[in-house]
Amino acid sequence: MTETHAGAATELSFDYAQGLDLADPLSEYTKAFAGSDDQDVVAYLDGNSLGRPLKASAGRIADFIREQWGSRLIRRWDEGWLALPQEIGDALGRVALGAAPGQITVGDSTTVMLYKLCRAAVAARPDRSELVLDSDNFPTDRFVLEGIAAECGLTLRWISPANDGGVTSADLAAVLGPQTALVVISHVAYRSGFLADVPTLTAQAHDAGALILWDLCHSAGVIPSRLDDWGVDLAVGCSYKYLNGGPGSPAFGYVRREHQGVLRQPIQGWMGSADPFGMGENYEPAAGIRGYTSGTPPILGMLAMQDMIALIGQVGIDAVREKSVALTEYALKLYDGVLAPLGVDLSSPRAAQWRGGHITIDHPSFREVTAALWAKGVIPDFRNPDGIRLGLSPLSTGFAEVWLGVEAIRQELS
Ligand SMILES: *Cc1c(COP(=O)(O)O)cnc(C)c1O
Repeated sequence: MTETHAGAATELSFDYAQGLDLADPLSEYTKAFAGSDDQDVVAYLDGNSLGRPLKASAGRIADFIREQWGSRLIRRWDEGWLALPQEIGDALGRVALGAAPGQITVGDSTTVMLYKLCRAAVAARPDRSELVLDSDNFPTDRFVLEGIAAECGLTLRWISPANDGGVTSADLAAVLGPQTALVVISHVAYRSGFLADVPTLTAQAHDAGALILWDLCHSAGVIPSRLDDWGVDLAVGCSYKYLNGGPGSPAFGYVRREHQGVLRQPIQGWMGSADPFGMGENYEPAAGIRGYTSGTPPILGMLAMQDMIALIGQVGIDAVREKSVALTEYALKLYDGVLAPLGVDLSSPRAAQWRGGHITIDHPSFREVTAALWAKGVIPDFRNPDGIRLGLSPLSTGFAEVWLGVEAIRQELS
C-alpha cells in the first residue's frame, strides 16, 4: 500500500472518528441534550427535521407549569407572555440572524407565516403579475405560492435547479423581469442542502423592482445570516429543526423595518391590532413587528427554543457553522471511501461554500434501508424517491455518531 492509501484507510476507521471528537472544542455540548446517553439511539442524523431537546428545556417546562401558568395564572400575560414572541425574535435576530431588534416575531406555523408575509408582499406590488419560485423548494412553500397565485390571479415562474444544487444567480436572472412581484427561495435547499448566495440574489431581485422572501427553515441556527446587512425584505423559518424548539414549535417571521406598516398582512386578528384589549370596532394594525401577529401566541411551544437560542449565543453561531462544515466534510469523506464504491450517489454540493448542514445521498434501495436503520436506532430521514438525508446538527452530533450511521448504511447495502 502506498502512504496515501494507508492514510485514507486510517481516516475511515472508527478510531479516527473518535479522535475527531476528542479534538472538537464543541464536543462537550452533545451531553447537554436529553437522550444523549440513551442506548437505543445509535446515531441521530435527523436534527435538520426535529432537533433533540436540551436537558435545560425539561426544567424550563416544569417551571413554567408550576410557577408561571400554575401560580401566576392569567396575570402572567401581562408579566411577560404577551411580549415573548418579540423578545424571542430579538434574541434570535441577535445570535443567529443578523437582525436588529423589532423585526422578528414568533408565532403560527411556518406555512401560515409564509402565507401571511408572501400575501403582504404581493399586495404591495399590485401592478406586477408574477411570482418566482423553484421546483425543488419544500412542498409547503410551493403549495402556498400556488394558492396565492390562484387567489390573486398571478403567474408562477419556475426555476428548476440541478439535482445536487440550488437556485443560482444565473437561474434567477433568467426569470426575473418587470412583472416579478415576489421571489421566494430557501437559504438552504431542504433536499440537496445547497446554500444560496443570499446577498447577490437579494440585490438581483431588488434591481428588478421585486421583493424577496427567504425561507430559513434549514439554515436558522446552523448558518450565520446577516438579514439586515444583506438587504433582505422578508424571511420565515421554523424553530423545531436546528433551533430545537420541539415538535410543532412555532415559526418566526422577519419583516425589515422599512417595510413595517407598509406591507399589510392578511390575517387581521385582535393580537396584531393596535389595541388588543380595547376591544374596538374595526381593525387597526399595531405599529411595528407586532402588526404581523394574528391570534393568541402559542407560549407553551416557545419554551424549548429559548434554551437553544441561549446556547447558540453562548457558543457563537460562527463556531456552530465551523463544526457544521467539519461534520459534513467528514460525512463526504466517508461517502467517498465507503458508500460511493457501493453505488450510492451524492446529491449535495461538494464545496463547503455552497453546502448547508446536511447532505443527501441516493440509492434505489434506500427506502427499505431507512426502515431497517430506524429499527436499529440509526435515524436519518428518507426523502422521495430514493434519498437519505444525513442531517448533522452541530451541537448535538458527534463525529463517531456519523461514522456509526455510515457504517450501518454500509452493512445494510452489503
Ligand atoms: C420544515 C420546512 C417547512 C415546514 O413548514 P411547517 O408549516 O412548519 O410544517 C417549510 N418550509 C421549509 C423550507 C422547510 O424546510
